[in-house]
Amino acid sequence: MSGAGEGLAPDATVVVVGASLAGLRAAETLRSEGHRGPLVVVGAEEDFNYDRPPLSKQFLAGAWGLDRIRLRPPDKIDALGLDLHLGRRACAVDVDGRRVHLDDGATFDYDGLVIATGAHPRTLPGAEAATVARTLRTLGDATALAGVLDAAPAGGVRVVVVGGGFIGAEVASTCAGRGAQVTVVEALPTPLGRVLGEAVGAACAQLHRDHGVQVLTGTGVDAVTATPAGAAQVRLSSGATLDADVVVVGIGVVPSTAWLERSALHVDNGVVTDAALFAADQVVAAGDVCRWAEPRLDGEHVRLEHWTNAAEQGVHAARSLLAGRRHAEPFDTVPYFWSDQYDVKIQMLGHPRPDDDIVVVEGTGSLDEGRFVALYGRGGRLAAVLGFGRPRQLMGYRPLLVAGASFDQALAHRP
Ligand SMILES: Cc1cc2nc3c(=O)[nH]c(=O)nc-3n(C[C@H](O)[C@H](O)[C@H](O)COP(=O)(O)OP(=O)(O)OC[C@H]3O[C@@H](n4cnc5c(N)ncnc54)[C@H](O)[C@@H]3O)c2cc1C
Repeated sequence: MSGAGEGLAPDATVVVVGASLAGLRAAETLRSEGHRGPLVVVGAEEDFNYDRPPLSKQFLAGAWGLDRIRLRPPDKIDALGLDLHLGRRACAVDVDGRRVHLDDGATFDYDGLVIATGAHPRTLPGAEAATVARTLRTLGDATALAGVLDAAPAGGVRVVVVGGGFIGAEVASTCAGRGAQVTVVEALPTPLGRVLGEAVGAACAQLHRDHGVQVLTGTGVDAVTATPAGAAQVRLSSGATLDADVVVVGIGVVPSTAWLERSALHVDNGVVTDAALFAADQVVAAGDVCRWAEPRLDGEHVRLEHWTNAAEQGVHAARSLLAGRRHAEPFDTVPYFWSDQYDVKIQMLGHPRPDDDIVVVEGTGSLDEGRFVALYGRGGRLAAVLGFGRPRQLMGYRPLLVAGASFDQALAHRP
């Protein structure tokens, strides 16, 4: 057993709960940094070795099969020597007793614990909605949705996407690319307006419309019901109805923390950690479930739902555990996110806020052009940079974010 705040002994037992990107990166890092002790990995899904971003893109489009979306080749996973428990769910943790409980009654004692249970989709209320409205998070979800598109009648399947956030937008884009008739229903006046600001959100909405997708904004969904013919009807808060062969709900995710609720850990919109990702001595968190004290925001606690963040935090959480709380370094990196919609790669560096000063600096200075770089300024500093179909130019601004440049310096910069 390792002492409070001290690093893990090389033969200590580590339990990782959540077997996906962050959990796997943590396990790999423990091994690559010399940890020889038992590595127990518990994951609720039967198939854990797959990547989620392609599920709404190439996999749903039918362009990539399962072999292309593996996180790692199977022999690399075998080489980690994991004690894998898949299709099994943790239901509690006793932090003082250093023991994880599974809902089938099993328990695992640990010297170090990695919490990497990610997030799961929010669903529409109502029993009927649950049967006819799909969400997209897992390989099973994507396979089932692709099956509906494959079986589409001539003239295309009618898809209603509830929610114009990133997942909804990618589903709309991929379904439209497969010849579906797509309608996006967004409760806010502008899709993504609360994340990227109104003007950039409007550019995202225009991108949909340019590709023949109908975007209905400022309207919620009151009900989704099944029709006798096996289709669905979506009743909008405006009173209008939409007929659909398939309804996909993309209204955000919630961190998967139910199993931690009665623990001594601080759970509040995720597992709350310090800057080095410790939720308690010998307990670290990583990925979509983790709300850490972000040094780049003066220690404000934030939770991100980004692939790169989950991958980097998985690595960092493992290093923190090995170093021990007393010696661990803060997780301090510039956040990165991308989304592929139609023929445009949307990328974001940093922490944007909708009320930031937003200035278009690449392109013709106008969002209408369809390809641009926008700078987000807050309190005189560069807070974030968005690239809309401008990958090379975007990355030219990264050093400024790393250095904490002023907004004026960023405006004067030409990458
Ligand atoms: C369709 C889709 C497209 C995406 N596209 C992009 C993109 O283009 N760009 C981008 O930056 N990000 C994208 N993301 C987000 C990115 O995939 C996530 O940020 C990343 O998967 C988070 O990894 P994670 O390991 O933290 O959590 P997750 O991937 O959510 O994995 C957590 C795992 O823990 C398991 N689990 C949960 N509770 C328990 C429990 N109690 N016991 C045991 N196991 C449990 C879950 O079943 C799951 O397997 C996308 C996500 C989706 C779903």
